[in-house]
Amino acid sequence: MNPYWSALARELHPYVPGEQPRLPDLIKLNTNESPYGPSPKALAAIRAAANDDLRLYPDPDATKLRATLAAYHCVAVENVFVGNGSDEVLAHTFAALLRHERPLLYPDVTYSFYPVYAQLTGVTVETVPLNAAMRIQVEDYRRPCGAVILANPNAPTGIPLLLAEITKLVEMHADKPVVIDEAYVDFGGETAIPLIAAHPNLLIVRTFSKSRALAGLRVGYALGDAGLIQALERVKDSFNSYPLDAPAQAGAIASVEDEAYFQARLKDVIAQREATTEGLLKLGFEVLPSSTSFVFARRPGFAGADLAAGLRDRAIIIRHFNKPRTADYLRITIGTPTQTERLLTALGEIVG
Ligand code: PMP
Repeated sequence: MNPYWSALARELHPYVPGEQPRLPDLIKLNTNESPYGPSPKALAAIRAAANDDLRLYPDPDATKLRATLAAYHCVAVENVFVGNGSDEVLAHTFAALLRHERPLLYPDVTYSFYPVYAQLTGVTVETVPLNAAMRIQVEDYRRPCGAVILANPNAPTGIPLLLAEITKLVEMHADKPVVIDEAYVDFGGETAIPLIAAHPNLLIVRTFSKSRALAGLRVGYALGDAGLIQALERVKDSFNSYPLDAPAQAGAIASVEDEAYFQARLKDVIAQREATTEGLLKLGFEVLPSSTSFVFARRPGFAGADLAAGLRDRAIIIRHFNKPRTADYLRITIGTPTQTERLLTALGEIVG
């Protein structure tokens, strides 16, 4: 152990992101990136922002981007917080809103960054098991706690909760922060944004990385009551006043303004998700019902690790989480039709 490390650095268990190898001919279905590029208008705006103004600091409040998002989602500017990817927004959320005497609740199978942020920010956690069908049951959250965070649709299962269930959760814990991570909601989930106006305890976290195909730009945001947003701003301004660079602000605005492109690509990914699911079912896989840009599937008789290794041998990478409840499953990002074909052919070879 290096003697210069702080106790904090020594004790951390950092998140391990999906790998980003750059190999020719690799089919990369491991980090839920979009198979299609971002809006050409977003690319043009990013290029246009690469000018002499880069000598200046960007707008620390990202006022124009926040106003664009506010108008798009029919909320006020003071209901919008933006950050460097939703991971940063989530990190600030843990520090600003989720640390209390009583534990934070989240599912036993969820986004694997939550436990990492909990450790970093000193949040005590109690996990709530998914049921046998890998579903969240909101009634299970009726227990003493300090706050709740859920991904809806859940990751890596892909299964959504209905708005009525989110409403029940938000009302059940009206005196505590309830955070809904809607990273994948555009692919078929029901957003809880309409609940914000009447529920000052609800924070919704979103990203440009998945449905807007801008993972490389690092833009995420949160929507909620102005009181919650102010807490996030206090943490942000104690950490980094300029989390979003000028090209990122410009590109994100142009992406939101290109609704036609956004809707067209969503349709493509959803259609391909159905094709992928059908192909996997034909190969004897069990596929959880997904409302996201990935599927979570297992093949009885085959270990998840062996399937993942077999795909890797064929230059296809997917995500395998080697944890007790998820070890059988593969999380497969939805790709292009050509990528899906190669994936299904490879799996056909592996399972015989
Ligand atoms: N939430 C969930 C559920 C995710 O899967 C991801 C992507 N790994 C994120 C948040 C973070 O995405 P980003 O930081 O790219 O916005």
